[in-house]
Parts: sequence; C-alpha cells; structure tokens
Amino acid sequence: MLVETHAHLDYPDFANDFDDVLRRATEAGVTRIITIGTSVESSWRAVDLAEKHPNIFAVIGVHPTYAEEAEEDVITPLRKLANSPRVIAIGETGLDYHHLPSVSAAKENKVQVFARALQGETEEEIEASIQDGAYKSRQASLFQQQLDLAVELGLNVVIHQRDAWDDTLEIMKPHTGKLRGVFHCFGGTLEQANEVLDRDHLVSFTGIVTFKNGAAVRQVAAQIPLWKFMVETDCPYLAPVPFRGKRCEPAHTRIVAETIANARCISLQEVADFTTETAEKFFRLNRA
Ligand SMILES: [Zn+2]
Repeated sequence: MLVETHAHLDYPDFANDFDDVLRRATEAGVTRIITIGTSVESSWRAVDLAEKHPNIFAVIGVHPTYAEEAEEDVITPLRKLANSPRVIAIGETGLDYHHLPSVSAAKENKVQVFARALQGETEEEIEASIQDGAYKSRQASLFQQQLDLAVELGLNVVIHQRDAWDDTLEIMKPHTGKLRGVFHCFGGTLEQANEVLDRDHLVSFTGIVTFKNGAAVRQVAAQIPLWKFMVETDCPYLAPVPFRGKRCEPAHTRIVAETIANARCISLQEVADFTTETAEKFFRLNRA
C-alpha cells in the first residue's frame, strides 16, 4: 500500500480518463492520493475531488509561479476552503526563481542581460533587477501568508522550491517548531536534505529518481533515513522511466518506490510501509 503524496488530479490532463487513472492507481497498490492545489480555483477543485472520493485528499494553496496572476487576497478563500475535513495541508507554496523576469527578458531580446544584471549598468539592466525584486517579493509575501495560515489552522505545508534554496529556508525559519514542511520533488544534495531534515521537515521524491541523469538524487534517496521521506509523482509531470515524456499518473508512484527500494537494497514492501506511515503522520490522514 502506497500513498501518492503529490498529484495534480484537477488538471485537465486527467479529465478524459479520470476513473481509469484511479483504477490503475489502485491496481498498482497506490491506495490513497493527495491532490495538490496550485491556485485558489485549483484548490477548490482539489477539495471537490476529495469530497467525492474517499481515497483522495486535498492540499490547498497558491503556487509561487502563480504569484503575479493571483488575486490580492488568497487567504480568505483558502481559509474558507480549509473548513472541509478533507483538507490535510497547505500548499503547494514556496519560492521559484527559475523564471525571473530578467531571465525571460534576456531570452526574448536575445541579449546577455542576465550575465551583466548584477552590475546594473544600463537602464534595461536596472529595470530588469527592479522587476526581479518585485517578482521575488510578491512570491515571498504569498509564501509568508500561507505559512501563517498553516500555523493558524494547525496544518503542515507542501513546499515548492526551485533555484531559491536560501530564501526559502530563511522565510520558514520563524515558523520552526510551529509547522513542518515537505520539500516536494526534492532534487538537492545530501547536505541540503540534511539541512531540512535537521529542522524536522521532510523531503519527497518523484520519478526523477528513475532518470538516467537522476543518479545524484537517487543516491540521496538511498542515504537518508527511511522514515524521513515520502514518495510522489507530481503528475501529470515527470513520468518515470519507462514512461518518460508521457503523461504521468498516480499509479507510477509504485515505480518511484521500487527504484528507491532497489537503490537501498531493501524490499518494496519496506519502502511502502515506512513512507505510508510517514505520510499518515505528516498529513494526519487517519483524521481526515
Ligand atoms: Zn506540484
């Protein structure tokens, strides 16, 4: 029995064969699925799915890459949604600096703005760094508000972090001891994994552990304590080998768990037992 801890079941990718997707998950031993909201609307859909299906649970939040489109007040609607007993955490929230305005602008103009951005010499460069600052602070504000909401509601958080490691940890620091986070789709080093595990957070692994170029993260998954991580797919993204490039689905959680079991030279059953217990505790699944 496995728990798929990070799926986006509300995405249109699953609209045509939703029941088959659920059936294949059950057949693969993936008996519970946590679906993750990425905007207020997506969170609303996640709760709706969780209320209709006893084996689906909802996490509600606004993804950092939606920061610019997000409504001014996302907290009021999220707080209201959290009244549903099917809501088990806040997220995914965090920071994502992978598509900073300066980088996009540099790509569009085909100029090397990025390389010189720090010097800020030309007007364009100064403009780009102002835009980056605004973009980052909007993300930081949304992240902070959602962490506060999680503390208020006594819930844990699902963290999305990309190219923003230090800032993410910095913003979470004041909440240490008040909430726990799972750094989902973990792709960092063993050192970084230990940094968050030492603060009583968790990590979770996706199909990246099956990739040819995923050796480093596979090693991390093999080395950290068995009770400190969970498994997920982040579907519809990141389908594991041999489905790479295709639409991913919750059934593939089993492949992620099998790959980690192989890397640790233990049985799938053992990985399933530990990751399930970790997920049950972290998300308090038995109370939802
Ligand atoms: Zn996600």
